[in-house]
Amino acid sequence: MSDPSPQSSELPLAADSAADEPRVTLSTTLKAMPGIGWSRADRFARLGLRKTQDVLFFFPRDHQFPPPPTRVDELREGQPATLIGRITECELASRSPGKSVFGAIVENESGAVRLLFFNQPFRADQLKFGVAVRLSGAPKLAGLRWEFTHPKYEILDDEEFASAHEHQGEILPVYPLTEGVKEYELRQLTRTVCNEVADQVKEVMPEPLRIAIADALKNAGMDIGDILPSISQTLRSIHCPASEQTLNAAKMRLVFQELFVMQLALAMRRQTLTGRLRAPPMTCSPQIKQRILRRFPFELTGDQLRVIETVASEMQRQFPMNRLLQGDVGSGKTVVAIFAMMMAVACGHQATIMVPTEVLARQHFRTLTTILADSQVKVGLLCGSLSASQRRETLRSIASGEINLIVGTQALIFDIEFHSLGLCVIDEQHKFGVKQRVRLRLGGIDPHYLVMSATPIPRSVAMTQFGDVDLSTLREKPSGRGEVHTYLASDGWKNRWWEFIRQRVAEGRQVYVVAPRVGDESETPETAPEDVEDVTSVNRVYEQLSHEVFPELRVELLHGRMKPEAKQAVMDRFAEGEIDILVTTTVIEVGVDVANATVMTILGGNRFGLAQLHQLRGRVSRGVHAGHVCVFTDGERSPEDSERLKVFEQTSDGFELAEADFRLRGPGDLLGQKQSGLPPLRIADLSRDVEVLKVAREMAQELIDEDPIMDAPELAMLKEQVLRRYGERLDLGDGA
Ligand code: ADP
Ligand code: MG
Repeated sequence: MSDPSPQSSELPLAADSAADEPRVTLSTTLKAMPGIGWSRADRFARLGLRKTQDVLFFFPRDHQFPPPPTRVDELREGQPATLIGRITECELASRSPGKSVFGAIVENESGAVRLLFFNQPFRADQLKFGVAVRLSGAPKLAGLRWEFTHPKYEILDDEEFASAHEHQGEILPVYPLTEGVKEYELRQLTRTVCNEVADQVKEVMPEPLRIAIADALKNAGMDIGDILPSISQTLRSIHCPASEQTLNAAKMRLVFQELFVMQLALAMRRQTLTGRLRAPPMTCSPQIKQRILRRFPFELTGDQLRVIETVASEMQRQFPMNRLLQGDVGSGKTVVAIFAMMMAVACGHQATIMVPTEVLARQHFRTLTTILADSQVKVGLLCGSLSASQRRETLRSIASGEINLIVGTQALIFDIEFHSLGLCVIDEQHKFGVKQRVRLRLGGIDPHYLVMSATPIPRSVAMTQFGDVDLSTLREKPSGRGEVHTYLASDGWKNRWWEFIRQRVAEGRQVYVVAPRVGDESETPETAPEDVEDVTSVNRVYEQLSHEVFPELRVELLHGRMKPEAKQAVMDRFAEGEIDILVTTTVIEVGVDVANATVMTILGGNRFGLAQLHQLRGRVSRGVHAGHVCVFTDGERSPEDSERLKVFEQTSDGFELAEADFRLRGPGDLLGQKQSGLPPLRIADLSRDVEVLKVAREMAQELIDEDPIMDAPELAMLKEQVLRRYGERLDLGDGA
């Protein structure tokens, strides 16, 4: 956790100039500190503690609030108490073989108590005359003396005893330890170092700023007093808290500062992006808008129209739109994308939509071709399975501008020359890394970006990982949707479920059966699901269902290892209603849209994460008929599996699910390095500190709005910290 910031040189000071220098500075080594000694300093070095500044920033992992030791004259019958003292008498008496009693007297300045241990003669070896102990238990009065029978105790060496005495009742820091370094030694060390040098640490946040922060925190319901503590005060309070209040204020300062520095970096980046990048401005008359809207075979929802307005106005600007559209599965994000793409084309530019799977690329291609059937607009498809000559021809038409709209998978991003790319839509963003987006940024003109995700992003993640992105949300679902029912199958359900499927098929509906994943096929964001699929289980399920369970129905197989043409043929026939039951893998997880399919069977559901389960459910909530999802599990269900599945059964709102997922899995998973591209947080915890994060974000934005490159002299040190930690990653340059 320590954050040794590079300090100025360690040149030996001339004797005369040393007079006004403090004797111990931030770069004094522990070996050179009086009273530490070489051998101890060597042991501290194992924890990375070499200089005093290392010690200051070596934060405790926790704090203990030990009950203050009780005085002997304050003991109460049967009430738990803690005492510190020395053994002044001890005696082991054997009554008969195997029966013994060991008694000892412990004394301190407030009096003496007796300890008793029955049939534990070994206590005599530990609790000898003169030994110091901290003991706890519930005493009983025996005559005039308090007795502790079988108390808990801890032997203290002389230094611990002295220190325990001196710091009775204080809040104690708990440090991560290593072999050969004891807790009390670290406490002593940090205390000494704090006394010597805490005041020498430079403050990066000027007082007025700290007052404003405390005020903003208070308004958000987090009262830590009138001013955020100074860094010196903070370090002292973290290592030697004077009270719980000062400790909390100090923790708040550290958490806030870490989040604030990050948010300043993100705000600066938003600022530079808008200032530096150029995008083609697209002005779109109301007539053009109406003409585009008329092409959709349905009324748009209020949410769709609202987002379309925002998108249209941002695409008129001269710098790139960078907008994330999140909306639950089935909320109709594609409509927004298609609108934006047609707007780009209407303004004489090309637009592209990038998707994670070929199945989805072909589906979008089909949708676009249908909507644009009688128009001049030409749609191109670019995916891995094109033959070399098809690919060459498509690329040529893209470069010449003959093709206006390009639908593609990852293959799209390599070496493409556009005639005039005005808009890039990224569908199902969560399946990609952030890098793809960057690679498209070519030349002097950048396209506008519309990024879509069906996995709603928890607020805290949206504010960090997507901190430089603007956010829109589709909450409203298109009307006329059937409900979706979710069932967790219990034992013996299979036959009943197959029967249920038979009935739905008899009514004309279609069915998905998703086979469990095998082994660990965790997807890296840059690989299409097709590439990592293990098809043994889907083949097995297919054999069983097509031959044994539903020999009379049209059962077909779809998985990522199949040839692209075969995959496409199956998808087309499923969409046309020529297949009753599609046995498949998570290849259909994202985006696939067949409204007549209303039954989803998930086998081995315990192997799927919440987001995936919800995506799968999204496949059967697209039409007027009610949807039905049944989740089967295999093997032992772990408690976590059960909890996750229960949440899935009870919550159908994707946003609630995402927050629950975040709680269950913690931020680690979601904020994987690959995704975020940001250095990990060391102190703040995004699942715990969302409220602080919000304040930090608002204040950072305000500050950057007023002073875009943090030019004010009093912010120089804060700016330096922002650039040191984030400058390179976020390409902030020198901020000038
Ligand atoms: P997602 O947000 O999951 O990508 P889609 O864009 O695939 O959702 O839309 C799901 C289905 O809803 C599609 O069949 C689409 O045609 C339909 N749809 C979208 N918007 C509307 C609307 N306003 N009214 C009726 N149906 C709509
Ligand atoms: Mg979609």
